[in-house]
Amino acid sequence: MVDSRDTLRHQGMRKRLVEGIKIKGIRNQRVLDAISKVPRHLFMDSSFIQFAYKDQAFPIGSGQTISQPYTVAVQSHLLQVELNEKVLEVGTGSGYQAAVLVEMGIKVFTIERQRELYLKAQQMLPEMGYFPKFFYGDGYKGLPTYGPFDGIIVTAGAPAIPKDLLSQLRIGGRMVIPVGQSQKQTMTVITRVAEDDYKKETHGTFVFVPMLKGTEK
Ligand code: SAH
Repeated sequence: MVDSRDTLRHQGMRKRLVEGIKIKGIRNQRVLDAISKVPRHLFMDSSFIQFAYKDQAFPIGSGQTISQPYTVAVQSHLLQVELNEKVLEVGTGSGYQAAVLVEMGIKVFTIERQRELYLKAQQMLPEMGYFPKFFYGDGYKGLPTYGPFDGIIVTAGAPAIPKDLLSQLRIGGRMVIPVGQSQKQTMTVITRVAEDDYKKETHGTFVFVPMLKGTEK
């Protein structure tokens, strides 16, 4: 991707961000390469550019946040999907996580329940050269007509694992989902090992905005 709004200075800041993420333990080169390419500052209001390459979550309006780069790296790594495989993302938000996955060569289907965020991401990402498929709707229901998916990534904190999403995983597919009430969630990976058999692992504590039911205009 070539974008005149992405300068050498931004690229230098991203390089340092990626070094920091590496130090925190992410060794997945495809993930690190994608984060070093996606211009995170373009996903935020231009007055907040100095925060774009700090390893922090940041407000994006409508009461939502762009995930912390380290968290994006952990979730992208845990998905363990191959080139050209299909991933459903629940919670488009700014579209940053979706762009990182597209940069990794993944076919991304992303769904958002807040109309304003959906419209903004749908306009902005193609301008940057990223073409996931955008949907406005309730991620609790997933996208049954587009499944089954090789991976599902949920980027909001889920009080419990949504049943409808489990059934949209292919056998062998993985769902990466922060599970827990309110302000603190456990990063959980569910693998569908057979038609009716799922295996669960956990990977530490994270903080997400809550996953909510239904849609909002
Ligand atoms: N992936 C985003 C992070 C966004 S924060 C990024 O990279 O910027 C979580 C997002 O999940 C919010 O935009 C919120 O509106 C959305 N969300 C919460 N519950 C949802 C649901 N049931 N369906 C779809 N999106 C949901």
